[in-house]
Amino acid sequence: MSFLRADIQVRGIVQGVGFRPFLHKLVTHYALCGWVRNTSEGAQIELEGEKALIESLLRELMDNPPKLAVIDSVEVTYSDERKGYSTFEILKSHTMAERNTLISPDVGICEDCRRELFDITNRRYRYPFINCTNCGPRFTIIRDVPYDRCNTSMASFPMCGDCESEYHTISDRRYHAQPDCCNVCGPSLHFTDEQGSPIFGDPIALAIQSIKNGEIVAVKGLGGFHLASRCDDPAVVVRLRKRKHRDEKPFAIMCRDVDTARKYCVVSDQEALQLDSFRRPIVLLKKRDSGAFPWLSENGYLGVMLPYTPIHYLLLEKLDALVMTSANLSDLPIVFDNQEALKSLGGIADKFLLHNRDIVTRCDDSLLWVVGGHEYFVRRSRGYVPFPITMPGARGGVLACGAEQKATFSISKGEYVFQSQHIGDLKNLEVYDNYASQIDHFAHMFDIKPRVIVCDSHPDYLSTTYAQERADKEHLPILHVQHHWAHMASCMADNRLEGECIGIVWDGTGYGSDGTVWGGEFLTGDYDSFERRGTLRGMKLPGGDKVTHELWRTGIALLHESGRKDAVEFSAEQRRTVDTILELGLNCPMSTGMGRLFDGVAAIMGIKCEASYEGQGAVLLEAAAISCEDVYPYIITTDNGRYVYDWRPTVQAICEDVQNGRATGEMAAAFMNTLTTMAVEICKRIRRDTGLTRVVLSGGTFQNQYLLHRITEQLTQKGFSVYHHQRVSTNDEGISFGQMAIAEKGAHFHVSGNSPDAD
Ligand code: ZN
Ligand code: ZN
Ligand code: FE
Repeated sequence: MSFLRADIQVRGIVQGVGFRPFLHKLVTHYALCGWVRNTSEGAQIELEGEKALIESLLRELMDNPPKLAVIDSVEVTYSDERKGYSTFEILKSHTMAERNTLISPDVGICEDCRRELFDITNRRYRYPFINCTNCGPRFTIIRDVPYDRCNTSMASFPMCGDCESEYHTISDRRYHAQPDCCNVCGPSLHFTDEQGSPIFGDPIALAIQSIKNGEIVAVKGLGGFHLASRCDDPAVVVRLRKRKHRDEKPFAIMCRDVDTARKYCVVSDQEALQLDSFRRPIVLLKKRDSGAFPWLSENGYLGVMLPYTPIHYLLLEKLDALVMTSANLSDLPIVFDNQEALKSLGGIADKFLLHNRDIVTRCDDSLLWVVGGHEYFVRRSRGYVPFPITMPGARGGVLACGAEQKATFSISKGEYVFQSQHIGDLKNLEVYDNYASQIDHFAHMFDIKPRVIVCDSHPDYLSTTYAQERADKEHLPILHVQHHWAHMASCMADNRLEGECIGIVWDGTGYGSDGTVWGGEFLTGDYDSFERRGTLRGMKLPGGDKVTHELWRTGIALLHESGRKDAVEFSAEQRRTVDTILELGLNCPMSTGMGRLFDGVAAIMGIKCEASYEGQGAVLLEAAAISCEDVYPYIITTDNGRYVYDWRPTVQAICEDVQNGRATGEMAAAFMNTLTTMAVEICKRIRRDTGLTRVVLSGGTFQNQYLLHRITEQLTQKGFSVYHHQRVSTNDEGISFGQMAIAEKGAHFHVSGNSPDAD
C-alpha cells in the first residue's frame, strides 16, 4: 500500500456547476483528505491517501462528472512528500483567478427540483423560481464576473436563513447555488392586464384561465418574453398572427412532455433525447400528418420544446400544449424588460404574467433539427451559449464580427471560441446596439482583449462597419473574409478538418470576391485561401432587394432567360414590371444565389409567389416534395476553368411540366433531385482536377433536409467523405465561426505580422 500526495489540475467548465460538492461526496466516499480551489483554468485539487483510491476517484470524476461540467483534461502529479491533511477543505479562490473561467448557459429545471415543485410537503411547493446547483438561470442573469449572487440579478433578493444554510452546506444540493431562493426571500410572480394593472389572485391559475379563454398572455421567461396561447384553436392562433404581424411563419409549441409531443409529431429516440436534454431546445419534428395544424406551421415540420422553467411546468400542469413564440415585433430584438413589455406588447398580449427578477441578457430559444443524433442548428442560443466551442490550434484574442441578417459574433480565448447567442438583423438600430453591447459584455465576462478583428468582405454589412470602426479606434489589424469561404471554413472547423476540402456553399446571397452577388458556389481551399471552382449561371434579379419577397420577379426573369417568356401564367402587371426592368437594365443585379433559384422555381411551379418571410419559397418547395426519382435536364459548362450549372434546360422542362399539369410535389422533388445530380457531377469533376475527396456542406440552403440528406447520400456513394454542421448553424449565424477559423488557423496573421487583406 502506498500513501501519496496527488497534485491535480482540472481544466474545463467546473465552476458554478456543482463540481465542488460533487468532489466532496467522492472524497468522503474514498476517505481521502486535502483541499480544492478554483483557478483560472478550472480547479486545483490536492489529495492525500492510498494511490489506488485516488485513482478510483479520478476515474469516477472523468467517467461521470456532474451534468453541467465539461472536463477537458485532468493532470496528476504524485509525490511521497505528504503534508498530513486530516480533513477536506474548500479553499477560497482569488477573485482575479475566477475572472478567467467559463460561464454556464441557462439550464432547464432538473428532476429533483421538479419533484419538489409538486411535493406538497416541500417548502418550495409550487414556488415558480425553484432551482439548484444543477439547474436554473445562469447566463441571462449575470451582470458581472465572478459568478456570485451579488453579480447577478438575484442580488436584490437577500437569502433567508433557510436558503442561506442550504447555500453553505456542502452536502446540500443547493450548496453555492447562486440563484438559490424560496417564496420567503426570492422573486415572485404577478399577473396584470394589458395596462399593467395587477389582477389579484394566484398568478398561475389566472394565466391558465386566461389562456383557456382564448386570450394571449405574455409570459416572462429566462432570456426574454414569450407570447403564450392555446394551440388547438385556429381562431386564437390566427388572432395572435394578426396582432404579431406574422402571417405565415411557423410558431413553436411547448408540450408538457415527450408523450404529448408524440400526439402532434413523430419523435425518434434521438429526438426525444434532445427534447428532454437540460438545454431544452426547440426541436423541428415531422408532423404525424404533414397537412395537420396549418395554423401552427404551413410546412411538414413543427417546432416543439418541453417546459424548461418551473413557471412553464406550472402552466402546463393544466394545459397539454401551448403556442410559445418569442415576443418580439417582426425584426426587433426579443422583449426582456417589464416596462418595455407592457409598452411594446400592449397591442398583442391581453394579459401579462410578470416577475420581478431582471433579465440581464436577451437569449432566444435554440432551434434545431436532429441529424444523425446530433444537433443541426437553425439557431444556437439558449442552453448552449455561452458554452465555448473548442477550436484546436487557436491562440485567442480574435473578434469575428459575423454577417448581418442572422448576426452573431465569436470571440476566442486560447482554443475556446465563444460564439454569441442569436442577435438578429443588424439593420435594426436596437439590434445593432444590442450586438455592440454584447460584444463588450462577452469580452468583459471572459476577460478577452481582441488583438485582431475579422469581418465579412461585404462593404455595407453593419458588422463590417462595426469591425472597421473598432479596428481604426484601437489600431488593430483587420481581415476581410469572403462570405462563402467563411461558410466553408465554418463547416470545416465545426468538423475539425485540416487541409484542403471541397465546399458546396449554397445560400441566398453573399458578397463575392469580384463584387457580384454569389450564393451557389463550389469552392476548394483551406483556412489559408480558397478558389471558386464552380457556380450557377447568373440570374437577373429584377428589382434588387425586392426579389426576396416578390418571388414572381425572379420567376419571370428565369422564364425570359430560358426562352419561355409566356410558358407560365403570371399577371399582366407583374409581367410588365419585370419586362420594363429587364429592358432598361436598371436595378437588376446579377446573382448566383441558390436561394434565389429556389425562389424563382417556387414561383414558376405556383408554390409561392409572394413570400412573407425570408426563404419561404424554398421551405414550401421542400415541403411540397413527394416521393419521385425524376431528374430534369441540365448542362454544365466551363467558364475560365470554372464549372457552371446552366439551369435553363431545367427551367424549360419545369415549364413543360407546369403546362401539362404535373403534380407540384413531383416537380418539387425532381428539381431538388436535379440539383443533387448536378452537385455530384461537379464534385466529381473537381475531384478529377484536384484529387480532393472531402466535401463540406454549408450555407442557409442546407437547412433543406431533403437536399442535405440526398446530396450526402449520393456523394458518399461516389466515394466522397461528406461533412455537415453539428456545432454551429449552417446559415449566416455560422459565419462568425468560419471567420474565426480563418483568422485563427489561416496564415494571414502568421506570415508577415501585419494586416493583409484577404479579399
Ligand atoms: Zn434543480
Ligand atoms: Zn429563502
Ligand atoms: Fe450566407
